[in-house]
Amino acid sequence: MRTKIGDMNPSDAFSQSYAEARAKFLVTARAARARLSEIPHPLKGPNGEALACDVARFGPDDAEAVLWINSATHGVEGFCGSGVQIGMMALGWQTRLPANVALLLTHAINPYGFAWIRRVTEDNVDLNRNFFPVGLVPTANAGYAEIHQWVIPEDFDGPKRAQADAALEKFRQEHGERALHQAMAGGQYAYPDGLFYGGTGPTWSNRTLRALISTHLAQARRFCFFDIHTGLGPEGYGEPSYVGKPTEEAFAECQKWFGSDVTWLERGTGASTPVNGHLGLPFRPLYDQGKSGPVLGLEYGTLPSPDVLAALRADHWLHARGQLDSEQGRAIKKRLRDVFYVDTDAWKKQVMDRANELTGKAIRNLAG
Ligand SMILES: [Zn+2]
Repeated sequence: MRTKIGDMNPSDAFSQSYAEARAKFLVTARAARARLSEIPHPLKGPNGEALACDVARFGPDDAEAVLWINSATHGVEGFCGSGVQIGMMALGWQTRLPANVALLLTHAINPYGFAWIRRVTEDNVDLNRNFFPVGLVPTANAGYAEIHQWVIPEDFDGPKRAQADAALEKFRQEHGERALHQAMAGGQYAYPDGLFYGGTGPTWSNRTLRALISTHLAQARRFCFFDIHTGLGPEGYGEPSYVGKPTEEAFAECQKWFGSDVTWLERGTGASTPVNGHLGLPFRPLYDQGKSGPVLGLEYGTLPSPDVLAALRADHWLHARGQLDSEQGRAIKKRLRDVFYVDTDAWKKQVMDRANELTGKAIRNLAG
């Protein structure tokens, strides 16, 4: 027997497309009496559907503390985050908030990537590498410069592909698995069609997140931000990856809230190697304003890392050199979704259980 969430099974909170996820989020939020708003995206989805970041807020406007859960920073990873947000409302977290705590759910901060099954934004930008100070593009990533031509080979199959794979394998053997991951995923700012490209300026999703921070955290004195990701770490495990105030004291406080299994992204203590321009950075000015609270990625494991990277390479190859509307294009898209979204009841239950555990801890600590 499956555990019910309200009158919803855990799996029913998850969706098979952006359009389904959006409709389900809005219906659930309305039924839960959220204050809803939307920030329309200028482009359309693959079936002509409207794209937007939808915002549901519960609790007082001037709440002292805000728990904020964000989804789809990495587009396609939104299948997971959307399910968590809908599941949280179905479970009724909004009905059990302490008087001084608000709950904020931002659905699809990168709706284009979610709808089009991409990890990046409409401009091929990895949003979680895009938050560098305006005018200060991070320095070149020498490791990525060395491997770019092999990451996106000229041909998808055949001798050129084999040559590219062999070159990447040679890099791995010479420098190690983690060095290859750092070179590939650390963020690069020189190859606009490459992987983990951070862009040259703030994308739509970046500007949207900054606007949401100004609006929704202006009144708060304490906050906790969770950004839901997938594709790193053991299948079904949710790793809290700290990107908040970069002091020992603040990190220790975060571990006190959530447990010693919180890792620190900038120290490279978790599944991810450190990255440039990450999403914790736009929250940093709040600390100077005397506000406090942790900012975390919540990284759910799906398939082994080599499988995830292979699917990402294929998707970037498709957009750089292939045909989206082809059998090969559809196969690459299906694979990309599958490596970021384990579409089974067991995985979804693990995802929801972890989200509930962390939500409970966050609310308890935010209430003070
Ligand atoms: Zn991610």
